[in-house]
Amino acid sequence: MLKKAQLLSIHEKIFRCPICGGPMKVKQAASLECENGHCYDLSRQGYVNLLNHSSRTRYDKALFEARKAISGSGFFDPLVKAVTNRLIRELNSREAKKPIRLLDAGCGEGSHLSAIKRKLAEHSSMPDIVGVGMDIAKEGIVMASKTSSDLIWCVADLSQSPFADRQFDYILNILSPSNYAEFRRVLARGGALVKIIPNSLYLQELRTLLYTGTGKEVYSNDSTIELFSRHFEQVDAERVQYCVVLDADQMKQLIRMTPLSWDASPEAIGQILGEETEVTADFMLLYGRNEG
Ligand SMILES: [Zn+2]
Repeated sequence: MLKKAQLLSIHEKIFRCPICGGPMKVKQAASLECENGHCYDLSRQGYVNLLNHSSRTRYDKALFEARKAISGSGFFDPLVKAVTNRLIRELNSREAKKPIRLLDAGCGEGSHLSAIKRKLAEHSSMPDIVGVGMDIAKEGIVMASKTSSDLIWCVADLSQSPFADRQFDYILNILSPSNYAEFRRVLARGGALVKIIPNSLYLQELRTLLYTGTGKEVYSNDSTIELFSRHFEQVDAERVQYCVVLDADQMKQLIRMTPLSWDASPEAIGQILGEETEVTADFMLLYGRNEG
């Protein structure tokens, strides 16, 4: 707890009050407070809750536990590697090796940010990295803060984000909704957004099994890419595609993890469970720079 409060205290200038926009300070190692007395408690686990309202989402504990298990199985490893390599190329091209700040917007249970930070730290040429993970789902952040202690975790709403202007060198936005106006505001000049979206073949085996004949078996990310390029100068796009064989238990976790199963019938889900299945991972990595 003390270590978490210290980490937050060192980096308190990153934050601004989500209610009044005022600067914030860590008080008595127990809360983050603005000058107008708006107060946000640090939890026992060491995350800070900056939501002004309670939020109910379908992203619950079972979903995040499933996603953590799937991450642990290595399902996302090639994707994490692609994101890390992209950041390494970028960081190596920077002249000054000053610490960089990295925000994972919509980090869920934190597996991706933790893995990316760990991989970056393996390279001696990398600068120090201050990592911040935020998600509106408290269950995800509770889990994240238990597993990784060298990162700052916060529960917050992306549409009312608790960060001061131009604080981050990079924003990761992995399989999670965007708020481009806020991304632009909190990114430093010349900073970059790395957005990962599903591509057309992502989990196509599941799509086929769950939705054949319903019109939902085909997925396109055209409108997402279009929206991205309206807000950011897209400097690069990279497709990351591979296949993974999941055993019966991992298939169960995958079904729990993916919103794809939310609209499917129990019968359709039933026919998938209990079998080893090859599934396709297909992602698009969009890389955009904040020139403003
Ligand atoms: Zn305030």
